Amino acid sequence: MKIISKRAAGKTLSGDSFSFAQQAKAAKRAGFDVLDATLGTFYYDDGSFRGFEVVKEIFRSLPDEDYFSYAPIAGGIPFASAVLDWVFRASRAAIEKEMAARVVPTPGGTGAISSAVFLTLDHGKSVLIPDLAWGPYDGIAANFGVRTERFKFFAGNVFNFEDFRLKGEAVAQRDGKLAVIINDPCHNPTGYTLSPGELSRIIAYLNEKKDTPCVLIYDIAYLDYSNEGREAARRKLEILTKAEPHVLIAVAFSASKSFCAYGQRLGALIMMNKNEDVVEELFRSLAFHARHSWSNANRAMISMMTAIAADEGLRRRLDDEIDIVVGELRERSAIFLAEAKSAGLAVYPYHGGFFLTVPARDNEKTLRDLREKEHFYFLPFRESLRVAICAIPKNKLKGVAATVKKYCPD
Ligand code: PLP
Repeated sequence: MKIISKRAAGKTLSGDSFSFAQQAKAAKRAGFDVLDATLGTFYYDDGSFRGFEVVKEIFRSLPDEDYFSYAPIAGGIPFASAVLDWVFRASRAAIEKEMAARVVPTPGGTGAISSAVFLTLDHGKSVLIPDLAWGPYDGIAANFGVRTERFKFFAGNVFNFEDFRLKGEAVAQRDGKLAVIINDPCHNPTGYTLSPGELSRIIAYLNEKKDTPCVLIYDIAYLDYSNEGREAARRKLEILTKAEPHVLIAVAFSASKSFCAYGQRLGALIMMNKNEDVVEELFRSLAFHARHSWSNANRAMISMMTAIAADEGLRRRLDDEIDIVVGELRERSAIFLAEAKSAGLAVYPYHGGFFLTVPARDNEKTLRDLREKEHFYFLPFRESLRVAICAIPKNKLKGVAATVKKYCPD
């Protein structure tokens, strides 16, 4: 006889990024000179964490009702439009011409991904994810009794389409459904960005599977940090409209990253399909799910996003603040990559964003050595370690690659 349900039993939050961050914080409190590159939170070069000025200004100007009262469960029409404006920008009209799209606000991008899994996958089914992938995908799936299957993300320096296809076939055959989570652009943990050709090939493959319902959960948490530029990143999203009616496109948006407002917990799931009825059914079901799990999303953030959408000037100023972060990440990655090259340290292909990843076969030992001997804190990923350059000011980043190399034998 157990009080805990079978569903909840055995689940423990261990090995999570936040627990590694706690270790780094404890070492800092104990007086060590710590390099904490654990979390995907941006710190400026003076070591400070700051919200964007425009976001703070809008927050301060909001009437109490737009800040403290309940938000509509599904966010409301102006919010849905604000999300589509922000995520698709100049490509919005082209995308909406081809696809029906509905939006529901969620607690962060995490809530959007979790909702997409809940909406589309039954207990016992699988979701396909890369071998190098954001850790919580596994737990999100486990929460709904869904398994994760993995494909090799890289073949050399490019997306491993062969393994994606091979594993996709196995899942589709076994489950009669194929759901995939891809994080792009600026993939966490490597910083890889799919080329338009690679994204097209993924969609073309799902299109081929005419008798199998398919879902692409497209996690765009780092959309605004892409080195290809904000407009090019949006143009690439037009490729999603090539998905045929048996393919649902579930775009998971994170306001945490785009607005540097991680603690405010807002995201949105954009459900897109050629068939309006499919999208309407999912929308109704997600509104029901939202009401009976977290209920309403963060009202102040919803008001902030609608204010940005209504004012071109505010949006431009926000873009400028994001550009400062993108520029800073570009400089930091250039330092790390140049030093890694001189030190002979291998790094997975990086195109932009918050993280770089270093292959390390015995990553537990490497991470332990780096922690104990250097007070460097990174996150473990499959046979690799992730360096969150978003959290390391340039003056602290110098020499890091060479030090990592000391503990990363070939
Ligand atoms: N997806 C990826 C790949 C992430 O790295 C994160 C955050 O770290 C998220 C989604 C969702 O973040 P949040 O729930 O804070 O919006």
